[in-house]
Amino acid sequence: MSMDTPGSQSSLHRANLERVLRAVRMAGSLTQAEIARSTGLSAATVSNIVRELKESGTVVVADTSSGGRRARSVSLSGDAGIVVGVDFGHTHLRVAVGNLAHRVLAEESEPIDTDVSAQQGFDRAETLVGRLLTQAGFRPDKVIGVGLGVPGPIDVETGALGSTAILPGWTGVNPGRELSQRLGMQVYVDNDANLGALGELVWGAGRGLSDLAYIKVASGVGSGLVINGQIYRGPGGTAGEIGHITLDEAGPVCRCGNRGCLETFVGSRYLLNLLNASHPGELTLTKVVQLAQQGDLGCRRVIADAGRQIGSGVATLCNLLNPRRVILGGELAEAGELVLSPIRDSVARYAIPSAARQLSVVPGTLGGRAEVLGALALVMSEMGESGAIRHTGLASASSA
Ligand SMILES: [Zn+2]
Repeated sequence: MSMDTPGSQSSLHRANLERVLRAVRMAGSLTQAEIARSTGLSAATVSNIVRELKESGTVVVADTSSGGRRARSVSLSGDAGIVVGVDFGHTHLRVAVGNLAHRVLAEESEPIDTDVSAQQGFDRAETLVGRLLTQAGFRPDKVIGVGLGVPGPIDVETGALGSTAILPGWTGVNPGRELSQRLGMQVYVDNDANLGALGELVWGAGRGLSDLAYIKVASGVGSGLVINGQIYRGPGGTAGEIGHITLDEAGPVCRCGNRGCLETFVGSRYLLNLLNASHPGELTLTKVVQLAQQGDLGCRRVIADAGRQIGSGVATLCNLLNPRRVILGGELAEAGELVLSPIRDSVARYAIPSAARQLSVVPGTLGGRAEVLGALALVMSEMGESGAIRHTGLASASSA
């Protein structure tokens, strides 16, 4: 459709426009000076682009103050488009509907069984998305894209879900295609750890940062890495598999086929096994965290030891990537300082001092909502110029 050639005036303009839009989408709102800083564009270019976006109704500009000086804050117009997030977790299906101005307009969660089939799962997602769109008062054609979170690795080439301990019957299914066919919408898929990282980056404990790691410790252990404001996935999509760092070559066999991986020492199954003899009866990780907070010594010990092991993995991560912040998510994060403090001790012990010095280790602030909010953020991060242009009439403006 476009007649642009790379390097032409208009393709450069479109690229700059998309950089400005993306910066505003990810931050929620920015002053023009902040846009210039984060995009590297000149103040004059930013000013021209903001004027153009304002005239097309894509952004709204409001007076504010920044460091005592008057400034103008730029945010996406509330009716620039709707995004949908869908998250399949261990025991739940969660859906959220939001706008590009970072407002969550409707959100709901319902329980699912681990033996639910993929077909049933996607049928239920379709129904819930339809109901929440109606509740928020939007027609399906206002939706720019759907972010979908799944608790397992996605093959970058085929889009198929790899082996997952959480929804065992879903291996080999193409979740993006399944949901896209049902909804008739563009669907972006990612794993739960990457979405947790995006959620905390945009809405939670990572706001305003460009380099962080989100570590999710639940039945499995995974991480999402944000580098220069973007999720780093690696060419095969496996970046951040911190759960499979080897801690003990002669340790227990892991589901990955290796031995002594971090996950075999801190995954929920292992932790619950440790408490078998001392705590007879049905235990869950959430229950263990509750007991620890009530002073149960065995549960406190198990959580502290897990923290030390996680900390040694975090130390390796810090030596390699030097993130500004490590955000802990998943059920074990609910233990707060009981797990965070041993993590910090291990980081201090094993990481290079210069990597550890600038690091803060904090709990996520979004809890179980991190992934579904991250699914909204995934659309904002990945939608590119097509989404913005399709819904704002900018195509004619920028190809003129
Ligand atoms: Zn492993």
